[in-house]
Amino acid sequence: MTSLKLLEGQTALVTGASRGIGKAIAISLAKEGAEVIINYSSSLENANKVVSEINSFGGNAYPLQADISNENSVNQLIKTVLNKNNKIDVLVNNAGITKDGLLMRMKTEDWQKVLDLNLSGVFYCTRAVSRQMLKQKKGRIINITSVVGLMGNPGQANYSAAKAGVVGLTQSAAKEFASRGITVNAVAPGFISTDMTKDLNSEAILSAIPLGRFGAPEDVAGAVRFLAADPSAAYITGQTIQVDGGMVMS
Ligand code: NAP
Repeated sequence: MTSLKLLEGQTALVTGASRGIGKAIAISLAKEGAEVIINYSSSLENANKVVSEINSFGGNAYPLQADISNENSVNQLIKTVLNKNNKIDVLVNNAGITKDGLLMRMKTEDWQKVLDLNLSGVFYCTRAVSRQMLKQKKGRIINITSVVGLMGNPGQANYSAAKAGVVGLTQSAAKEFASRGITVNAVAPGFISTDMTKDLNSEAILSAIPLGRFGAPEDVAGAVRFLAADPSAAYITGQTIQVDGGMVMS
């Protein structure tokens, strides 16, 4: 007996899906039957590897380059997806970078680069898909923020400001789109093992995580899959779900 796939026939766009958390999200949405657009910025080779992995279990995916920090590039990306697929059912705003440094010495360029991708990029993508989702009267948008956006972190003024901004953007978009059946939620990971965190001092961090381990990209993908695909998530909007091993409890 074949199991029911919750996203059969649906189109999902995942930004920054060529590695790390975005890759795990893309794979989990493809396993639910969605055709997944693997957005990447610099490495077509990595994006193609994700597509091959999805094809290997019979899923559908294709790579599309776009710099999510650039408004024109995002508009072109969404146009290309709509020309090919005629719709977008799920948008996962995942692409993100860090450029850490103490605030006193932080270069304006490093502040701006992080804000441009991690916050403005979420706005560009959400705005670009909104017309189509409003027309469809259907859509699920999931924004990847961070626990750092909820609690701050020394050396990450730019990153935590951008991620806190994503929470506010999520709530405003949720209120604007709710009457058309579109939900907008955020997922806030704690420390997840990816390229982004490979140089961190793990001993100091582990002592602050009640579950005693770094998260895996699949831990985050599980929460995204629930918000994007599960019928039980239909009444959840404007929320931020933490996937952090219990690190931040309010
Ligand atoms: P990662 O391993 O460094 O991967 C980053 C991804 O973003 C790559 O696919 C990269 O594509 C893409 N990207 C970078 N710049 C881009 C741009 N200008 N336009 C489009 N795509 C771009 O990062 P990660 O750890 O998986 O993080 C994914 C998301 O989770 C980010 O938003 C991050 O802030 C958030 N997060 C991560 C953690 C953590 O502990 N890892 C914790 C909390 C939140 P290329 O390979 O082509 O460059």
